[in-house]
Amino acid sequence: MYRTHSCGALRASHINTEVTLAGWVQKSRDKGFMIWVDLRDRYGITQLIFDEERTSVDLMEKAKSLGREFVIQVHGVVIERESKNENIKTGAVEVLVTELIILNDSKTPPFTIEDDTDGGEDLRMKYRYLDIRRNPVKENLLFRHQVSMEIRKYLSNEGFIDVETPYLIKSTPEGARDFVVPSRMNQGQFYALPQSPQTFKQLLMIGGIDKYFQIVKCFRDEDLRADRQPEFTQIDCEMAFVEQEDVLHTFEGLTRHLLKEIKGVEVDSFPRITYDEAMRLYGNDKPDIRFGMTFGELNDVTKHKDFKVFNSAELVVGIAIPGGASFTRKEIDKLVDWVRRPQVGALGMVYVKCHEDGSYKSSVDKFYDQVDLERWAKKIGANAGDLICILSGETNKVRAQLSALRMEMAERLGFRKADEFAPLWVVDFPLLELDEETGNYHAMHHPFTSPKPGQLELLNSRPGEVKANAYDLVLNGNEIGGGSIRIHNKQIQAMMLKHLGFSDEEAKEQFGFLMDAFEFGAPPHGGIAFGLDRLVSILGGQETIRDFIAFPKNNSGRDVMIDSPATIANDQLKELNIKLDTQE
Ligand code: ASP
Repeated sequence: MYRTHSCGALRASHINTEVTLAGWVQKSRDKGFMIWVDLRDRYGITQLIFDEERTSVDLMEKAKSLGREFVIQVHGVVIERESKNENIKTGAVEVLVTELIILNDSKTPPFTIEDDTDGGEDLRMKYRYLDIRRNPVKENLLFRHQVSMEIRKYLSNEGFIDVETPYLIKSTPEGARDFVVPSRMNQGQFYALPQSPQTFKQLLMIGGIDKYFQIVKCFRDEDLRADRQPEFTQIDCEMAFVEQEDVLHTFEGLTRHLLKEIKGVEVDSFPRITYDEAMRLYGNDKPDIRFGMTFGELNDVTKHKDFKVFNSAELVVGIAIPGGASFTRKEIDKLVDWVRRPQVGALGMVYVKCHEDGSYKSSVDKFYDQVDLERWAKKIGANAGDLICILSGETNKVRAQLSALRMEMAERLGFRKADEFAPLWVVDFPLLELDEETGNYHAMHHPFTSPKPGQLELLNSRPGEVKANAYDLVLNGNEIGGGSIRIHNKQIQAMMLKHLGFSDEEAKEQFGFLMDAFEFGAPPHGGIAFGLDRLVSILGGQETIRDFIAFPKNNSGRDVMIDSPATIANDQLKELNIKLDTQE
């Protein structure tokens, strides 16, 4: 037996017990006549002791040879520790070693394997297996396990069954590029890795599996953005014989369950907001509603004077920053610089200080009087002591800019508390989105999403106005899940694909299998998928999803540990009949 106890198990009650432990040498302190070794495994740290009086000369020598991260097995007796360490669970005892076996030695690790490490991000990624030995990383993996077990428990109790769907498939459009895999047996042909199991879960509904879930890898070849992984994990779910209300109800249940079991938090309500309203009030389709600072639109109270900037703007809109009236001139200038940074992109910012005595002082006093400013304050819901910040310009852009400012200020003012959870459903998304560059419409959710009842007719006349039976679950300003009620009728699916610019042939080629299946008694169905990585990181109160993935890729989509992506051997290319431009 390698070990009788883990390194986190021994307590005062074990004193005088003979034990065998195995683990890694975290560090050793050699006083010459006495040596202490911190032995670590997944469960904790136990102090080992070797001392001249009680330990043989040979064993002392062997103990002296131990280096950091050596893997050892020891046999010994649990004794009371002279100076106890209250900070660790095993701090009352130590093991007086009688036998030491070195199971494997170790090179000196490139960084210290302790909670506070000296290793930089790149180094830790390259030696991820060493980083995983550290508590913070290990605990994140344990946490992720706990979350995923609770998900399985809840869904399984609700009658959902876990069905695996294939990874080598054909394109499923979720708005990204596919990763493709060349087929050796069918030269010149490629599989695509799933952007999601969307079509398969719909086929499962047609197969009569009326509640499906899977915790599944999805692959999307998207342009790199901070904290985005080319492969990521979804909690993918689908239900048959449901309407939107049923889906929302079920997944409110899952979210409640997770918040309760994992965080001990009971959520009162899952408010709902339409997409249009979210954009109007927060400039964003995934608003953080833990704090107010909602937008106030000011077009009708700003355009009556000679201020050209506002007069020519499509939208004039502002927010009130609580307590901001006390900002100094310098602080406000800095804020203006902040919104003008290219990442935000505003041209400028108008501000109004709402003084405690009821008067106002603005950066546009030349154009607007106290009556105007008071009206603005009312529209925005600003109180005495607040600073009103106003941006203007083209609607979509200005909303995005002001939303960025809102989030930034909330962060600075400490309104985004990690231990407060405010879920929100965003519903009634537009079905289609106009691609400004190409002038074409594409599906805002995906092409299998159904329009809201009664809106089908609008599809031909005013496609941009059609609302979808689609919903997102937002938690603290993050989209954690999204789904829709699907089309289950061949003609409607064909019509939808036509609107998205697919020719009949293309539609048949790519989605013929699904549309054919619709002809064999497809039940009404709908579902949702949650992003597990993001959900876990929010529940864990941390920002980066990478911290909760065992072997993540870096921001350039590389795995620096195994050094991938990489070239492949010429023989392999030949076998696949692939010729690269760079090859002779
Ligand atoms: N397949 C969708 C996605 O990946 C989720 C869904 O509609 O259920 O976003």
